[in-house]
Amino acid sequence: MSKDYLFDEKFELNLPKLKGTVSQGFDLSRLSWLKVGGPAQFLFQPEDENDLASFLGNLPEEIPTFVIGACSNLIIRDGGIPGVVIRLGSSFSNVKFGEKTITIGAACLDSKVAQISAKNGIDLSFLRTIPGKIGGAVAMNAGCHGSYISDYFVNLKVVMRDGSRAFLNLKDLHFKYRSSAIPAGAVITEITLRSYKDFQKNIERKMSEFLAYREKHQPVKELSCGSTFRNPLGRSSTGSKTDNDHSLKAWKLIDMVGLRGARIGGARISDKHPNFMINTGDATAKNLEDLGSLVIKKVREKMGIELVWEIKRVGCHAQDLY
Ligand SMILES: Cc1cc2nc3c(=O)[nH]c(=O)nc-3n(C[C@H](O)[C@H](O)[C@H](O)COP(=O)(O)OP(=O)(O)OC[C@H]3O[C@@H](n4cnc5c(N)ncnc54)[C@H](O)[C@@H]3O)c2cc1C
Repeated sequence: MSKDYLFDEKFELNLPKLKGTVSQGFDLSRLSWLKVGGPAQFLFQPEDENDLASFLGNLPEEIPTFVIGACSNLIIRDGGIPGVVIRLGSSFSNVKFGEKTITIGAACLDSKVAQISAKNGIDLSFLRTIPGKIGGAVAMNAGCHGSYISDYFVNLKVVMRDGSRAFLNLKDLHFKYRSSAIPAGAVITEITLRSYKDFQKNIERKMSEFLAYREKHQPVKELSCGSTFRNPLGRSSTGSKTDNDHSLKAWKLIDMVGLRGARIGGARISDKHPNFMINTGDATAKNLEDLGSLVIKKVREKMGIELVWEIKRVGCHAQDLY
């Protein structure tokens, strides 16, 4: 198949009947945490796992797919995402408690996982302040306050790009600092985490402390994606002692090169926390990406260190479409 179908408005998917919904040209800025980004050529929201498996099994393999969670770690470019964007809805957010585990639908919000767990005397308090969904948390090996998803991970269920289903274990995921090895095109549908018990009161106290910490140190009321760049020496989630050093913080480097408060268009480096990049209201994805590139260039020139994006940038630049 030639690639002419990408962003061709007349192109139709022509798939067997689905229970979920397919929207053509869906404006992704409506879903994006940063409120930027162009359209999805198609947005598919499956009704359940069978629907997702049947959709992927019937979708010609040349058509690219991209799965989104809460878009809290994504800059979706202004030209949008060609092919099919997959978004799991509330039918994928069940939570089941086992003897020593908790099994969670991939679309459940991290904050909800933490709160429901606390009510059941299970400590997943570190998830309370991470804004994404649990599928995105596994894909990114999300973490804070010294805990990472990989510390709790047991296994997960995926629907692969060809529509087949599989369970993946810890050894398949190769968790690292802010990354995991989910197979290309696979959609995580359910995750099982190990559960550690504590008194509800203790867990709730910790969650309140984490919320207060964020409020004090981070621009939580502004549009951002959290940390823009990885800390140059991030702790390995595998527990390796060799790279267990957080001391070189990206925010310090950005501050040292004088970019606290820097702007391009509607994008700004936060005054409160320089590793947060903010949409002040009318930023484009290009403004945000250009500001990030400026930071990388300045830190390289002045400090000799190469910062690496933690935020993923996906889709097409607007100019690529013309
Ligand atoms: C204010 C703020 C604070 C933040 N603080 C933290 C923090 O302390 N620690 C931290 O780790 N992160 C933090 N983040 C970043 C972000 O919340 C996490 O990376 C989060 O785990 C992303 O989840 P998401 O559902 O939004 O995923 P998205 O941003 O939608 O996607 C991220 C990646 O996950 C993949 N993905 C999502 N869902 C699935 C799925 N079901 N199957 C397969 N792949 C999937 C996507 O394809 C993409 O590659 C913060 C963000 C904000 C806005």
